[in-house]
Amino acid sequence: MQINENLIRSVVEQVLSEVRGKQAVASSSAAPSSAASNSATTSSLAMGRFGLFSNADDAVRSARTAFEQLRERPIADRKKIIDHIRRISIENCVELGTMEMEETKIGRLEHKIAKLKTLGERTPGVEFLKTECFSGDYGLAVIEHAPFGVIGAITPVTHSLPTITGNAVSMIAGGNAVVVNPHPSGRKVAAEGVRRFNQAIHADLGIDNLISLICEPTLETAQQLFKHRSVALICVTGGPAVARAALNSGKRAVVAGPGNPPVVVDETADLDHAARCIIQGAAYDNNLLCIAEKEVFVVGSVFDAMMSAMERAGAVRLIASEIDRLTQAALQVVGEGADKHYGAKKELLGQDAVKLAAAAGRTIDPKVELVFGETTSDHPFVQTEQMMPFVPFVRCRDFDEAVRLAQQAEHGYRHTSIIHSRNVRNMTKMGRLMDTTLFVKNGPCMASLGLGGEGYLSFSIAGPTGEGVTTPLTFTRERRCSLIEDLHVLGGISHL
Ligand code: NAD
Repeated sequence: MQINENLIRSVVEQVLSEVRGKQAVASSSAAPSSAASNSATTSSLAMGRFGLFSNADDAVRSARTAFEQLRERPIADRKKIIDHIRRISIENCVELGTMEMEETKIGRLEHKIAKLKTLGERTPGVEFLKTECFSGDYGLAVIEHAPFGVIGAITPVTHSLPTITGNAVSMIAGGNAVVVNPHPSGRKVAAEGVRRFNQAIHADLGIDNLISLICEPTLETAQQLFKHRSVALICVTGGPAVARAALNSGKRAVVAGPGNPPVVVDETADLDHAARCIIQGAAYDNNLLCIAEKEVFVVGSVFDAMMSAMERAGAVRLIASEIDRLTQAALQVVGEGADKHYGAKKELLGQDAVKLAAAAGRTIDPKVELVFGETTSDHPFVQTEQMMPFVPFVRCRDFDEAVRLAQQAEHGYRHTSIIHSRNVRNMTKMGRLMDTTLFVKNGPCMASLGLGGEGYLSFSIAGPTGEGVTTPLTFTRERRCSLIEDLHVLGGISHL
């Protein structure tokens, strides 16, 4: 048998490249001994590979190349890519969640881990894409959902890698590439996650930089993304300043902005159930969720019973002088002129209830998840998106007053509101008046994202621009393909 040297060389090269690929995948999913050892891995990596870039221009250019490669591939390859992101999020959730906790120092470790796992499992992928069809006497029209190209994403410190994970799944399912400008205080875990995703994708499909990241993000690099000619769409997840910046960018934007979700409890509610739900939602990740219960308005006739129900469910009630001390320690006036308002102080934002209680002058069991207490409706804790596990309760004359005060506290964000009631008229009235993107009845806030309720999951809920809970379809353009006269098979055939 004649041996073809070139053939052997090419087979050896192919095998070696497969082995290297498998090693890369294995090392990306193996858990090194500590989260710290991994950040060292990230810092020692060369820029310009596996999605890590030092500037916006290089990141966008490389993501554009990745997008063009993805465009040539079947939808089945998008699914393979998403499966790698899912696998890494699930298998590495403990390690990456620990890194996120160590870097950001806000929230709760068990929830950092749970968020990565849940997003890996539950974010909708290519199965969410659908095609519509019109068939009639004039032929056939098919509506398909095409990608935008490169999407610029801005992500928050409250869920740094989880938001990137959810955005990447949705955006790649829609056929796009993404460049992320993460929050500076969550950039290391963002870079580590992105590196692992890209490494696995590259090893399997040969496409690198589909999820690119600016490793030293600043407001300037965010602006560069907003203005970049090769960025077709931006998606921001964050507070009022970035929401405004995106809306003023001159580029099409999907804006997942701030909230200050109020809860109304009326006299027909199951108070013990309501208390358990409020604790579950408001204590999750120390109240960092934008959808989390931030203040509660209770009708007067059941106010005292509701406070007792909260204590029965495990929350600790602070008295007025303790709330005063906590307010001094936790909130401060920020902004100037007409923009003057209260904001959470960094030292207590996203900290455990035991730490808030200590700031209020009280020692409590470290296992307590939430502290709460009675305030007036104009209290800064009611009006501020405080993102900490203290929830103010406001005594209201009746249901109408409770909804009116809830509307004021929501500040027109139209983000999330919650009711505990068995009165469908009250539910309907509040739903209409609040007009929020998410309206939850008789459950914790997360039930509205498919976690204990119906529907699907995303960590980017676009209120201001109206897309709602984002999906792969949010990141697609509609394209119509029309065939005139033919392929409509129901009509008569005399003209054929
Ligand atoms: P943040 O607004 O401080 O930062 C969010 C991101 O925007 C960061 O990457 C930050 O660097 C960037 N940024 C801030 N100002 C900017 C500007 N002027 N121009 C360009 N970029 C800018 O918010 P955060 O503390 O990281 O996250 C918490 C906020 O995000 C809360 O208000 C919360 O409600 C909101 N949020 C909303 C959703 C949603 O789905 N609607 C989800 C998560 C968080």
